[in-house]
Amino acid sequence: MDELINKYAEILKTAKVGDYTYQGILSAFAREVMALEAASKALAKPTDGPGTNTGHGHVWPRPDGQKARCGGFPKCNVCVSDYDAYKLFR
Ligand SMILES: [Zn+2]
Repeated sequence: MDELINKYAEILKTAKVGDYTYQGILSAFAREVMALEAASKALAKPTDGPGTNTGHGHVWPRPDGQKARCGGFPKCNVCVSDYDAYKLFR
């Protein structure tokens, strides 16, 4: 983020009148910030656990609605380990 701010600060410093509009620089900056935010959200998103199509569908509901015919918690070892990892079973 600091790199990005420095980059745009440099553009503003060196820009000659008529090269850029203030609005244009701001919207380019905003676009880059939004792209960075999207990228960091994608990185922070867990690859398994609640909200993902992982697990057997008994400990947390999967977005795809699938449920394994495994007997569920506490009969199934996968469901038990999902529960141990996330403590969500109610
Ligand atoms: Zn299971």
